[in-house]
Amino acid sequence: FNNELERSEKMEIISELAASVAHEVRNPLQVTRGFLQLLSEKSLNEEQIYMSMALSELDRASNIITDFLTFAKPEFETISSLNLFDEFKHIESIMQPLCHINGGKMILDVSGQLWVKGNSSKFKQAFINIIKNSIEAFSEEGFIYMSVYGEDDKVIIHIKDNGEGMDADVLHRLGEPYFTKKNKGTGLGLMVTFRIIEAMQGEVRFTSKKGVGTESITILPLAEAPDDSYSL
Ligand code: ADP
Ligand code: MG
Repeated sequence: FNNELERSEKMEIISELAASVAHEVRNPLQVTRGFLQLLSEKSLNEEQIYMSMALSELDRASNIITDFLTFAKPEFETISSLNLFDEFKHIESIMQPLCHINGGKMILDVSGQLWVKGNSSKFKQAFINIIKNSIEAFSEEGFIYMSVYGEDDKVIIHIKDNGEGMDADVLHRLGEPYFTKKNKGTGLGLMVTFRIIEAMQGEVRFTSKKGVGTESITILPLAEAPDDSYSL
């Protein structure tokens, strides 16, 4: 038991540290990127090659931060009852612009009084990584359908896209660290998602068909409404 406690304290310290580092590192990355971009517009051809390599390495660094710590704040992680309507409305508002830019539509269907226990930042990170993949898989007229409902003592979350889909060999490797089929992929997004959902005592399953689309189904234990909540 002592070891368990020590381990979880260490994990908390590590995650707080990681959040601070991400927070501090993101700004200088952005600033450097801006200067490089300016310089590259004024450079000779051969110099531009190095500039564009440098830019794409900077992007890689910030993509890694995005997959891990989009919302991480440099403070200890709080676990509370999360209202799924609020969480998914927020997730939708964050992802809607990216979805639009890529020519897609997003539909959210979420019932009102559903709660799960967890950390709000991590919960959002888990689903943003799934939705980002859907957007990146868009072909023409992309579509993402998200539905969230309760069933007995569980909450079921479907995220379905009509993107390029995956073959069985890709499907089996989802969540493996550094596994990516993309040029600029980190291969970390779904690993992070799986870890977060597992830590919440839930599970995520994917089904997919090449050329048709992909669906993820996440099952989480339903939590009780917090004392200070009320329904209309
Ligand atoms: P990354 O997005 O950086 O490649 P992920 O862990 O998020 O890493 O995803 C791993 C791989 O799984 C992707 O490169 C892609 O091939 C595949 N994948 C995940 N989600 C989808 C999806 N919705 N549609 C098609 N392929 C997907
Ligand atoms: Mg991804």
